[in-house]
Amino acid sequence: MISIPKGTKDVLPAESYKWHYVERLVRETAAAFGWREIRTPTFEHTELFLRGVGETTDIVNKEMYTFQDKGNRSVTLKCEGTAGVARAYIENGLESQAQPTKMYYITPVFRYEKPQSGRLREHHQFGVELFGTDSPYADAEVITTAKALLEKLGIKELELYLNSIGCPVCRGRYNAALKEYFEVRQNQMCPTCRERLTKNPLRILDCKVPSCGEISKDAPVILDYICDDCRAHHEKLQEILTYLGITYKVNPRIVRGLDYYTKTVFEFVSGAIGAQGTVCGGGRYNNLVAEIGGKPTPAVGFGMGLERLIMVAEAAGLYLGEKECATLYIAPIGEEQVLYAYALVQQLRAKGIAAETDISGRSLKAQMKYADKSGAKFVIVLGDAERQSGIVKLKEMSASKEEEITIDGLAKRLGR
Ligand code: ATP
Ligand code: MG
Repeated sequence: MISIPKGTKDVLPAESYKWHYVERLVRETAAAFGWREIRTPTFEHTELFLRGVGETTDIVNKEMYTFQDKGNRSVTLKCEGTAGVARAYIENGLESQAQPTKMYYITPVFRYEKPQSGRLREHHQFGVELFGTDSPYADAEVITTAKALLEKLGIKELELYLNSIGCPVCRGRYNAALKEYFEVRQNQMCPTCRERLTKNPLRILDCKVPSCGEISKDAPVILDYICDDCRAHHEKLQEILTYLGITYKVNPRIVRGLDYYTKTVFEFVSGAIGAQGTVCGGGRYNNLVAEIGGKPTPAVGFGMGLERLIMVAEAAGLYLGEKECATLYIAPIGEEQVLYAYALVQQLRAKGIAAETDISGRSLKAQMKYADKSGAKFVIVLGDAERQSGIVKLKEMSASKEEEITIDGLAKRLGR
């Protein structure tokens, strides 16, 4: 037996309706907010992620699925959604269209991580990316989109954490303060954080090793260091959210895992699904487009983990759509009726009615068992008499009641 690769999951037919439901709400929400879908490749040149995600991040250092293709190019499976979208924005000259550009995606994401509950090697994200304005209203546009989806799903208990991590101007001063603070505590820190100390001290605040988390608690807080422009941005965003009645907490520990963030960073976190409780993370990334070769372009976005989102919804016992079953099962009696029934379901299907019939040559009893198990809403037993008279008994399975109906009237009764 060849088994599934570690850290990946099958979504089986009995569960996929939940995904369809969530994806439908995602698309409805995106449409209402004016996000339009972009689809980018599942793999990109490795260079894009090195420059776009940043060489000091966990993703680039430890988590990328990178390989040489047969033409000896280094390619990497999508390890996050933003870099590919930013590349497409530049490469297709989208900046020359009406600005801002608002795009969304649903995509698989691949990261070589230690698999655990809520942490997979292939997971899926709904993401939005907005290019072309530095206004805090754009940040609000992104945050309210995530919030609207969570509300549509009925998820209430998520906390919204907000922070600003400043811009390259003010972050320099903050990094210096962090270095000073952590340098004298180096020997209590994990080896990776000791390395981060010289390369990118901000990353230490994101470390998941408990002892590093302890030390970080008393570290200098970025909000004491940000410049007037970043502060004004941060405050305006809070004013907008407050005006809209969106509750949030400013949390100076939120720094996000990617190098390209500037100013706003935020996370939606659930307490209901254990340690991997961050369902959505995002922020502003004003330097990314220039970093990967475009004109300097302010941008903001988020990525939302769909597996974690579904976990939260399930933990709260929320509605996640209806099981997808046939509307009608037609059980032909005897060989003579099989072909007739088969043609009949084809006609009904053409009219958009989910209909099935016997394709395995089974007895009536076995067919009824199948119809019941498969969850068909209605069943018809079709023998010679029914075919001759053109009248059948339509049995509603859940109600155990029957009605007489003409075969010609079936489509109208069951469908559209
Ligand atoms: P974490 O801190 O949990 O590792 P992250 O900061 O790496 O998350 P992002 O890169 O911001 O996550 O990705 C956006 C969202 O995608 C996360 O908030 C989370 O819901 C989801 N996500 C990230 N990595 C995984 C994973 N390995 N398995 C399942 N979902 C994930
Ligand atoms: Mg991570």
